[in-house]
Amino acid sequence: MNKKQLKSLYDICSYTRHKGSDGERAMIDKHIKPVIDYVDDYGNLYKRIGTAPIIWSSHTDSVHKEADPVEQTCYIDDGETRLFKGEDKMCLGADCGTGVWIMLQMIKAQVPGLYIFHRAEESGGLGSQWIVEHPEASTGTDQDHWLQDYKHCIAFDRFGNNSIITHQGSRRTASDKFAKALGDLLDMGHQPDDGGTFTDSANYVDLIPECTNLSVGYMHQHTNREYQDLTYLLQLTERLIDVGAEIGKLAAHRDPSKEEFLDYWGWGNVSGLTSTYAVDYRYGDNDLHDAIQSYPETVADMLRSGEAFCMDDTELARLIEDRWLTEDNRKYG
Ligand SMILES: [Zn+2]
Repeated sequence: MNKKQLKSLYDICSYTRHKGSDGERAMIDKHIKPVIDYVDDYGNLYKRIGTAPIIWSSHTDSVHKEADPVEQTCYIDDGETRLFKGEDKMCLGADCGTGVWIMLQMIKAQVPGLYIFHRAEESGGLGSQWIVEHPEASTGTDQDHWLQDYKHCIAFDRFGNNSIITHQGSRRTASDKFAKALGDLLDMGHQPDDGGTFTDSANYVDLIPECTNLSVGYMHQHTNREYQDLTYLLQLTERLIDVGAEIGKLAAHRDPSKEEFLDYWGWGNVSGLTSTYAVDYRYGDNDLHDAIQSYPETVADMLRSGEAFCMDDTELARLIEDRWLTEDNRKYG
């Protein structure tokens, strides 16, 4: 991989991509349309390479606001190690511009699998939900739903640089065995992480055995302090290109017909929650809610120590993120 290839990432992030906006449309037309072979009735975009039973997943929208200008300026540091935004209210949109970019590089390198560029993830995974609810779109499969022909769905929609998500909204979506095997193949120090919130792969949990989400190197997503670690991104993409075909051959261990929930925080068993938990409780525009979902252990500690009061929501969200970054023995991440 060389840094020249990052130019298209800078371009992707230069469009604001509120669901259905002109910016999202322009980004899709310029970067995704030229390489895909199918668009469904909801607008999700697909590219198939080979026959490997693996889905690679990202989303085309971002948490930009409807009223944001179509384009924005992004910056990189001198060493080209970081992509970030200026001091306005908008986010960078590496969530999920980076995921889109990784998939474009993998397609270029002909890594086998089915690539799905989902729509409207930030509004509660609407594009992937549509796919689940429209099995009639399937052709040539013996299954009730064509998604059941797949063993793995790997989303590129997680902050940080070491997570392979095993649980989303407290429900198990991928086995530890699979997460470890994927981490071993990548050989970059990734660990199984049960602190996932929600991304499109969670919607496939009843149909596909191993549904995960992988750290792609952005931080502070959904805020104007969002940045993308470019060094990590280049390394990760190179590894995915090198071992992507092997990832598609990994064994699947989780039984998608069984539900398993985390029992955490000593709050008793949460198995009463349904798989719609994460969708129902997702508020794309709510910074504080997002910080709580992303760093639950930090929030729990702050509440226990009674220090988190008398601040407004934005201030509190920043404090949670800062605290999370400086903790050395955190549980998640
Ligand atoms: Zn995302």
